[in-house]
Amino acid sequence: MMKVLGLIGGGQLGMMITEAAKKMQDHISEVIVLDPTPNCPAAKVGAKQIVADFKDEKAIFELADKVDILTYEIESGNSEVLKQAESKTMINPSPETLRIIQDKFLQKSFLAQNKIPVTDFVEIKSLDDLKEKIKQFGYPALLKARRDAYDGRGNYKIKSHDDLEPAYSSFPGKSLMLEKFVDFKMEVSVIAARNTKGQIATYPVVENIHENNILKITIAPARVSENIAKQAEKIAHDTMDVLHGAGVFGIEMFVTREDQVMINEIAPRVHNSGHHTLQSSKTSQFEQHLRAILGLELGDTTLVHPTIMYNILGTDEFSGRYKISDFGAENLYLKMYGKEESKPQRKLGHFNLVDSTNTLGVEGLLKSLEAIKEQIKFIKT
Ligand code: AMP
Repeated sequence: MMKVLGLIGGGQLGMMITEAAKKMQDHISEVIVLDPTPNCPAAKVGAKQIVADFKDEKAIFELADKVDILTYEIESGNSEVLKQAESKTMINPSPETLRIIQDKFLQKSFLAQNKIPVTDFVEIKSLDDLKEKIKQFGYPALLKARRDAYDGRGNYKIKSHDDLEPAYSSFPGKSLMLEKFVDFKMEVSVIAARNTKGQIATYPVVENIHENNILKITIAPARVSENIAKQAEKIAHDTMDVLHGAGVFGIEMFVTREDQVMINEIAPRVHNSGHHTLQSSKTSQFEQHLRAILGLELGDTTLVHPTIMYNILGTDEFSGRYKISDFGAENLYLKMYGKEESKPQRKLGHFNLVDSTNTLGVEGLLKSLEAIKEQIKFIKT
């Protein structure tokens, strides 16, 4: 039976979900997106749009009334409102899963209870509490806002006793947690999916390089030993086993200097480090997400070609209307998100550089990337 799909958030993730939905015409007849920006990226590729804030209760109920199945591309939604909307339509991942994931402290507690490795962490209730508890962790340690923080914006690295007060006062009114600092040698992630029937599939582990806490490059596959790859994929599988609700999840992990793998955090949605799957794999993460929430058999997650994903981020030099200089290379797949204005660090697009003959390997791709990066220039328009 054909379904109408509702989507909360119509940025680049919503746009790529909409594009995948349009290719699944046997299952999805229409996509309706809720997003505050008129003509958001998802609307530009054919989704109908309700223009409203992501947390607007009335708009969420209006959307829930119109669709057979509801999902989201942002994790900051109001899980309480979504719980109420569950009486009108099926929502996946479930609002309860979202509630746990969107609070970093609840998320880590849930993982620890289920024996999934995470760094040591503790809730912080006051400055005195912080002063006391930091003794268990030593320096450096990370003070984190529990909610509504992403791309590292809610984190304060406490390097010494002198940082305690400024760290605490930089989060007025926020619920906080403290984390032991992980001396990692690599950040990796696994894109994992669970469908409504409980089938689980994981993509091979990839390596992520961040700049200013924002993902810049994903290398698929990660340059890790087989043992580490197995550990990462097992952790992702175990996580899917205990997390209820269906969909695709981005599971970010650290590989420590002692070759231990632990989860940093989970995103209850398709993930930037899974964009390579658009060209590298038989099933893209966007199609996989739809298959998962529609209860279809999950697609093949084999990495067919080594691939590097490079994010095109707004530069610090200017904000406003822009165009990107022409650039390209063989087996380079550019995807711009249709955002008219650039802002520093804004995600404007990405490209995948694919080793289509499986002869270059990721080292060869990284070498080509160096030359390509030089060609990318922003032009103010
Ligand atoms: P988050 O927004 O919490 O995922 O953190 C953003 C970035 O901060 C991560 O990608 C890591 O590079 C770093 N980070 C977060 N938590 C820790 C930790 N406990 N130890 C070391 N680095 C961390």
